Amino acid sequence: MRDFYLAASPDYVPVSATVGQTRINSYAPAALEDGAQIVLDTAAAALEIYGRRFGTYPFTELDLVNTPTLALGIEYPGMIAVTDRIYDPEGSLGSTPNTIFLESTTAHEVGHQWFYSVVGNDQLDEPWLDESVTQYITWLYYQDRYGASAAEGFYQSLVGRWNRIEQADIPIGLPVSAYDGAEYSGIIYGRGPVFVDKLAQTMGQETFDAFMRDYYARYQWGIADTEKFLSLAQSHCNCDLNSLFAAWIYAQ
Ligand SMILES: [Zn+2]
Repeated sequence: MRDFYLAASPDYVPVSATVGQTRINSYAPAALEDGAQIVLDTAAAALEIYGRRFGTYPFTELDLVNTPTLALGIEYPGMIAVTDRIYDPEGSLGSTPNTIFLESTTAHEVGHQWFYSVVGNDQLDEPWLDESVTQYITWLYYQDRYGASAAEGFYQSLVGRWNRIEQADIPIGLPVSAYDGAEYSGIIYGRGPVFVDKLAQTMGQETFDAFMRDYYARYQWGIADTEKFLSLAQSHCNCDLNSLFAAWIYAQ
């Protein structure tokens, strides 16, 4: 495990499910059990989808816990915190129903179990490698679970983030400190996953999928970086991706 995290409350009542070898526990106070159940169902579907696509989740336990965090969700190895602000299925945050946030947040944070937890990277200096890749695979979760047309809404939400900074062509591969708040959201969570899709289209989806399985296997328990990601992708497509990375990832 790369990190340690502990959450505790006398009010937690877990709901649980098993996927393959993994027991999934979703913890929340009894009054928020409907939300805890949505988190559990989403995590179970996501664990199955990412496992099939990239390689099996290697632990026998995954815990998702309701906390008063200010973020929507935060990933830890084998554990995920989800904010209590979105657990009431009847409620909404801004104009977006909580149920949409519960599913997208849970699917995103479960994705980090593959890219951040098992395959590590420098989260401060190369945030695109965990965040943009995880945003992209969250879109794959929606495609696999609901079909391509139902997943279009999630993809448009990614483009919408980038639109909020007028699709600025700020490089994706910068450290967190190089972006202001709006740029970080628009570039790392919007332009980034659009780039990963562009990469998949350039390589061919099947080749890209094989590359991602190899990336997960090769850098399991290790630390990947942009150069390793690029070089492994090129070895799979047998093509030159330098100009694509220059246009999207690197500062000119
Ligand atoms: Zn994330």
